[in-house]
Amino acid sequence: MHAEIVVLPGDGIGPEVTAAAVEVLRAVGRRYGHEFRFVEKPIGGAAIDATGEPLPADTLAAAQRADAVLLGAVGGPKWSDPKATVRPEQGLLAIRKALGLYANLRPVKPHAAALGASPIKPHLLTGVDLIVVRELTGGIYFGQKQRTADSASDLCEYSVAEIERVVRRACTLARGLRGRVTSVDKANVLETSRLWREVATRVARDEFPDITLEHQLVDSMAMHLLAKPREYDVIVTENMFGDILTDEASMLAGSLGLLPSASLGSSGAHGNAKDSHQKVIGLYEPIHGSAPDIAGRGIANPYATILSAAMLLRHSLGLEDEAKCVEKAVSGALDAGIFTADLAPDGHGVGTRAATAAVLEQLQ
Ligand code: ATP
Ligand code: MG
Repeated sequence: MHAEIVVLPGDGIGPEVTAAAVEVLRAVGRRYGHEFRFVEKPIGGAAIDATGEPLPADTLAAAQRADAVLLGAVGGPKWSDPKATVRPEQGLLAIRKALGLYANLRPVKPHAAALGASPIKPHLLTGVDLIVVRELTGGIYFGQKQRTADSASDLCEYSVAEIERVVRRACTLARGLRGRVTSVDKANVLETSRLWREVATRVARDEFPDITLEHQLVDSMAMHLLAKPREYDVIVTENMFGDILTDEASMLAGSLGLLPSASLGSSGAHGNAKDSHQKVIGLYEPIHGSAPDIAGRGIANPYATILSAAMLLRHSLGLEDEAKCVEKAVSGALDAGIFTADLAPDGHGVGTRAATAAVLEQLQ
């Protein structure tokens, strides 16, 4: 397959970890006979320095044309002056909005060799393999906000169509997994949650008879996520609940340096990849930030970004075997004890290059 991948290195350790992921994508492309073309564009602080804007029009246009987008991280002390009117983070929000990325996927699969990195007891973590699907473009974060002298309000609003598309995405994902979806809401209190539950129930019943859908109230979900994380497969929820639950879920895996994410838009014709797979526009990035404290030192953990590249292969290019191959290579490197400093118990880990080389070696 031919595919064009736009790479947005961004700031801090972003360029270091995206370079690692690109090397891995090139290697997996060679192994399976694909031609991946990489187009690098600025975003965030790097783009502000170069053009004055956090998301230059040329960067957005390239992303809109591409088959997928791989992002490092944006932001850093250089651009965090509270008086600044342009900020790196605006670039990220703007590209998510412009690409219509309504579903944020965060898989959490603690690795046996790194269980010690989590604050949760290891016996609860063995076998955990879940994915949170968070609605990303609706709900209270985007509703009308009002402020008077002695009160404030934020409107939470969801349309049937917004709920349908994210529930469909979760159910489709669950089909390739264990066929179970947990929909999280607060239907005992909130009207938007009652609508959410109705729509989720209908979509699952009418369009995914092979999927088992269960409902869970968000407060009890927060508890169960820590008490019995093994019980969950695909969790789908609205924007704010998802924001909170994804941060909670990330603690199951321990280090930020191991967690990938995908933000997906609608499927449909776009990009250049020529085959029958239904293209899904997607932006792939590690969940960690730009880590300015370690930037430029060659010690950043590249695994989260490499695993994000695996999600790119899976969700935007439809290359499941290739995605699994990359995930196995990262597992292999961890099994072989190739830990960067954030994972090493004594803090003495290998550098970004050595960790990347270990993954490349596993790919052979
Ligand atoms: P943001 O607001 O952009 O999410 P943040 O302030 O939450 O950023 P990060 O940039 O994610 O924070 O960094 C948090 C801590 O984790 C820092 O000490 C950083 O060095 C460390 N860290 C983050 N990513 C990595 C990585 N890939 N490898 C090693 N350490 C990392
Ligand atoms: Mg953060």
